[in-house]
Amino acid sequence: MESEPRTGGTPSSDAWLSIPAFESPLHVGQPNIGDRAVFDSYVDQMFERRWLSNDGPLVKEFEERIAERAGVKHCVAVSNGTAGLDIAIRALGLSGEVIVPSYTFVATAHALHWQGITPVFADIDPRTHNLDPESVRAAITPRTTGILAVHLWGRPAPVAELQRIADEHGLQLLFDAAHAFAVSASGTPIGGFGRAEVFSFHATKFFNTFEGGAIVTDDDEVAEQARLMRNFGFAGADNVISAGSNAKMTEVAAAMGLTNLQSIDAVIDTNRRNYHAYQRFLAGIPGVRLTTFDEAESNNFQYITIEVDDAASTSRDDIVAALTSKNVLARKYFWPGIHRMEPYRTIDPDAGAALPSTELVAGRLIVLPTGSAVDESAVQRIADMIRVLVVGDELEG
Ligand SMILES: *Cc1c(COP(=O)(O)O)cnc(C)c1O
Repeated sequence: MESEPRTGGTPSSDAWLSIPAFESPLHVGQPNIGDRAVFDSYVDQMFERRWLSNDGPLVKEFEERIAERAGVKHCVAVSNGTAGLDIAIRALGLSGEVIVPSYTFVATAHALHWQGITPVFADIDPRTHNLDPESVRAAITPRTTGILAVHLWGRPAPVAELQRIADEHGLQLLFDAAHAFAVSASGTPIGGFGRAEVFSFHATKFFNTFEGGAIVTDDDEVAEQARLMRNFGFAGADNVISAGSNAKMTEVAAAMGLTNLQSIDAVIDTNRRNYHAYQRFLAGIPGVRLTTFDEAESNNFQYITIEVDDAASTSRDDIVAALTSKNVLARKYFWPGIHRMEPYRTIDPDAGAALPSTELVAGRLIVLPTGSAVDESAVQRIADMIRVLVVGDELEG
């Protein structure tokens, strides 16, 4: 490394040093927070009623709004997205093996493993970062009971092809829609695909309830099972009819959700503006490709991701480290892929052999900050940093 000539793009170059660091850190997934006066008024009502949990009026209203926005019959609000996955997996009766991407947040696989189901990792399409239907087909065995697909970055998974595979093989299809609230696929809102979909409303997601999530479905049976499982199997006072857990959403979480629903379209507008700014300012940097959204669809534009390939003169990891030194806390999602995390790495150390695109993309990808804490001039500064790191001192002069 010492012998390599330093180009203008290295963190010691004049061009790099001349770009000021941000005064306070820009995080990926900085929470979007709605009108605090609106939130306060919901919380005042809640205290007046002394109804803090157990399917209160705010949770009921929140569920109606979410079902409306997702274009589905049922919304079952839960304490977090992972609990939502746990319950949906049980409500669908999954067992044995379930096919999942490795290129996703670890909760997708944990939710299966946690209840004794084997997550079988299928590869992604390197262009879309979503499950590759051919790889899903190849992963099916006699023990397979379902497919748990993810709409990664809020870009729809290939819903029609996955449904076809599920139908052909008698498999259940469930979607981890943690990234995909307020998103559409071929004009249909995410929410009604497969047998059920699960949203996360965690603080770092585009739309939050502090912690929270929802199982959404058009299936009456799944909705009823999910409601029971969320509340210890209670079908009414003193009437427990099945086993269940505790995954109830609180009233204060629903208050946050109802508040944030009021500003959700403004947040989307901000994210869209930032996305367009990234498109403009990152254009023409060799080896750096912004992941794009299909603007004929509804998008939340929450994940700004770039891939850094070999044409770039600086590695992905060096770019992330350099950006971090300037208070741009970019992240390597979902590095290194779930199959390289425990316990999956020990269970199947060779899983990577069947996942070349997962390994490729996981090694190239950077998530950049967006949301209401980021404006166009910040995007321009971040893009300038990346340009200097990758192409050197051309910015000078
Ligand atoms: C955030 C996330 C989850 C987990 O949701 P929580 O609400 O944090 O439990 C699951 N899957 C994916 C893809 C996520 O990004």
